[in-house]
Amino acid sequence: MTQRVAVVERITKVNDQLAEANRARLEAAGVFGLNIMASPGAGKTTLIERTLPLLAERLRVGVIDGDLATSLDAERAAAAGALAVQINTGGACHLDANMVAQGLEQLPLGEIDLLIVENVGNLICPTGFQLGTHRNVLVSSVPEGDDKPYKYPSSFSRMDAVLLNKTDLLPVCDFDLERFRRGVRTLNEGLAFLALSCKTGEGLPAWIDWIAAQVETSRKGR
Ligand code: MG
Repeated sequence: MTQRVAVVERITKVNDQLAEANRARLEAAGVFGLNIMASPGAGKTTLIERTLPLLAERLRVGVIDGDLATSLDAERAAAAGALAVQINTGGACHLDANMVAQGLEQLPLGEIDLLIVENVGNLICPTGFQLGTHRNVLVSSVPEGDDKPYKYPSSFSRMDAVLLNKTDLLPVCDFDLERFRRGVRTLNEGLAFLALSCKTGEGLPAWIDWIAAQVETSRKGR
């Protein structure tokens, strides 16, 4: 058991060092990075598709898409106007800093201001691996239920922002918005909470403003 813990610690340490290198590389190129995580079907790719045209006048965006086997999501991001790179994890349930480093190799960092990383659909594994991005965003969605912050506390507490997607389904789901919000706040008082619907567009302007504010804050900090 002790040996196993030591191995896991070593893997995490190596990953953190690679993440630091990714961060330095992004900052040298003036690129701000977002890591978007969620369960399968929460709407990560659709969120990115909706986000890209709304940012087009303000920021040039690159996307690294993590997926088990296909390039479907990167194709959608590219069709929506981003410079997109697909990373196939070969079955692994999350991206790690080394995979993102390979993605960065393929992106012209001098031509983008914002890097969006779409992690593999999984609510647990991706949240334990730093990638070198500047902010962590978790997308939850109404059909998944209002108990998710209570059931996956370590995932939610590590985030800078939680988005609740598919609010258009609130009228047909037994979802207590206040219970969800309370769960998020209890875990992490400082994080941004945004409810939105990629289908109707409700709440998307606040999300775009949040991204723009994060990028601005980071530019001023340099
Ligand atoms: Mg996707």
